[in-house]
Amino acid sequence: MRKIQMVDLKGQYEGIKDQVNTSFQEVIENAAFINGPEVQQFQKELEDYLQVKNVIPCANGTDALQIAMMGLGLKPGDEVITADFTFAATVEVIALLQLTPVLVDVEPGSFNIDPEAIKKAITPKTKAIVPVHLFGQAANMGAIMKIAEEHNLFVIEDNAQAIGGNYHSPNGKTYKTGAIGHIGATSFFPSKNLGCYGDGGAIFTNDDKLAHTIRGIVNHGMYERYHHDVVGVNSRLDSLQAAVLRAKLPKLDSYNEARRKSADKYSEAFKGQEDVITPVRLNEDDTHVYHQYTLKIKNEKRDALAKHLQEKGIPFGIYYPIPLHKQKAYADSRYNEADFPVTNQLVQEVLSLPMHTELDAEQIEYITGTIKEFLNA
Ligand SMILES: *Cc1c(COP(=O)(O)O)cnc(C)c1O
Repeated sequence: MRKIQMVDLKGQYEGIKDQVNTSFQEVIENAAFINGPEVQQFQKELEDYLQVKNVIPCANGTDALQIAMMGLGLKPGDEVITADFTFAATVEVIALLQLTPVLVDVEPGSFNIDPEAIKKAITPKTKAIVPVHLFGQAANMGAIMKIAEEHNLFVIEDNAQAIGGNYHSPNGKTYKTGAIGHIGATSFFPSKNLGCYGDGGAIFTNDDKLAHTIRGIVNHGMYERYHHDVVGVNSRLDSLQAAVLRAKLPKLDSYNEARRKSADKYSEAFKGQEDVITPVRLNEDDTHVYHQYTLKIKNEKRDALAKHLQEKGIPFGIYYPIPLHKQKAYADSRYNEADFPVTNQLVQEVLSLPMHTELDAEQIEYITGTIKEFLNA
């Protein structure tokens, strides 16, 4: 059996090696390392893929979120509602911009922000909602867009974990995740479903005026060379990264399909296991892209299982071990423990298994067999 890895980027590279090597060579020969043709071509290809009018590449996913909030003109003191159960980048940029993060609980099945909790957290200062499509499945965007409309709020999708996923809206349309709200942000960190070989990110919007504002913000607030109209940042995708992304984008659907196949094999193997709750797929077959395959391990057995996997050399992840509202940087006396029952329980139960495009049946059998043997002993 091949060595089991949490992600296998080297294995994936084998399938795109010729194209990546050739385009790297071209980028080096042309020496247009920043804003070269590769970046512009990738931007257009991603716009077509996502069916979104504007893609603005930037340096990483955290920047993408920050720039989205800057572009919307959010001001210090504005409240931004987001999920308590997510990666810290989401809340970090809210705090950095001196906006007020308002963390709310998530749903136990999908792990995504709970629309009812959003409703309860709205105040006259609320300006935006940031749903995170956690682990690769869209948040309840139908309900979230409705709340936003009723209260005149912006919706910024954190799509770092869900690129390529579909969302079947209650309005009858199917959208790519990240292209549903007013603005979307994504990351091309190497281990993401569409990852480059360094850092990268992008912002998506159908609003041309907002896109124009953002194209200036990412470039030092310049709309005309050396005229700085607004305070901007320096955040750009480089041509080598765009070359990798151009090689991978045409394969993204098959990559995500490979992840779904592995997820199905895992879930099949855990049928009937009373300590194991497999991830819920809320909608049709094309909606979950399994950035992570995350189990809930019941009856307080998670930590013992984690220790066992470590001993057996099977990689795993605990995403995320601490609710954001309990992190030193984001604790706030306004929070009430009784408002976070789901997140507080999830952090004790979640365990993510190896998930990538190169997993094979033998590896999955070994992983699931080891887990079942331990839990049923
Ligand atoms: C990875 C990730 C980010 C940040 O992306 P970087 O490119 O690492 O800055 C933001 N939000 C979520 C949910 C992520 O998973």
